[in-house]
Amino acid sequence: QRFSRQPDTAGKLRVSFEFFPPKTDAMEDRLWETVKRLEPLAPSFVSVTYGAGGSTRERTARTVRRILEETTLTPAAHMTCVDASREEVDQVVAEFVEMGVKRFVALRGDPSAGVGAAYRPHPNGYANGAELTGAMKRQGDLDISVSAYPEKHPESPDFATDIDMLKRKVDNGATRAITQFFFDNDLYERYVERARRAGIYIPIVPGILPVHNFTQVANFAGRCGASVPGWLAERFAGLENEPQIHALVASAVAAEQVLDLIERGIDDFHFYTMNRADLVYAVSHMIGIRPKADLGAEQPAAA
Ligand code: FAD
Repeated sequence: QRFSRQPDTAGKLRVSFEFFPPKTDAMEDRLWETVKRLEPLAPSFVSVTYGAGGSTRERTARTVRRILEETTLTPAAHMTCVDASREEVDQVVAEFVEMGVKRFVALRGDPSAGVGAAYRPHPNGYANGAELTGAMKRQGDLDISVSAYPEKHPESPDFATDIDMLKRKVDNGATRAITQFFFDNDLYERYVERARRAGIYIPIVPGILPVHNFTQVANFAGRCGASVPGWLAERFAGLENEPQIHALVASAVAAEQVLDLIERGIDDFHFYTMNRADLVYAVSHMIGIRPKADLGAEQPAAA
């Protein structure tokens, strides 16, 4: 009977949104339309990803700066350890701090040779997200989020090793974990239980991926440690050339997932927006998040 009632969530839920830095002018326009559309929903923060090997370093910085200068939003800059010495990473973090950034998402990153290749840290670099978290904490009183993997990271031989890595991140100062996307809420819940049993008490915020393109999601999910259940494939089957129906189904699927998590007691959600507003806006609306009139919207001209 889940859809027969609106959960009493008014004012109790928090959301955050993730963007990636645009590569072209057209992508940049779309990102800013998305940012402006989502801004009135007053997310607790918006995060901006960092490309492999620092390939987006300038674009990440530019996007974060623009968020600081042109919106009311609080940006969080992602940072990785890939192909960079400790000094180089520290320098980039210092530049963000100088810019006014206080929130970061600390990641090891994927090998620049591509996901699936063995990860080799830079000889003078930070080895993983835990080491990077510690290094960021030494730069000041920063709010550091880290990654967590409900189905364990593909390189973790077992859950114990995976949880141990999360524990090292917490010990080094991480105050929030954001999960890889997942579609089976039981897997998430089991992971959180494992973490709690291991003495990890920081929020483990579910990362929700509204499915803009099922074929693409199915293709990259396995590589990033997320499984695609058969029932999900079934929901999208035959919709490859039906973009509008695909979007309606995607909105229902994501809302269903989030509403179920709310029933399980979750009150904070991180959305992978893919730089698009509609699905995230729809799901936020479904859980009672409404635009704040004084944020982002154009103010009427004074008479
Ligand atoms: P870590 O958690 O540091 O390590 C991953 C695993 O590697 C560990 O669980 C462990 O199994 C193994 N490992 C690491 N160090 C050791 C060690 N010393 N000894 C033994 N085993 C070890 N990628 C980007 O390039 N840019 C982004 O902006 C970005 N943002 C992301 C945001 C979120 C919320 C998530 C979940 C992922 C993001 N990623 C991003 C993807 C991420 O970089 C990859 O999943 C990468 O493979 C792992 O990075 P990590 O920080 O999770 O790694």
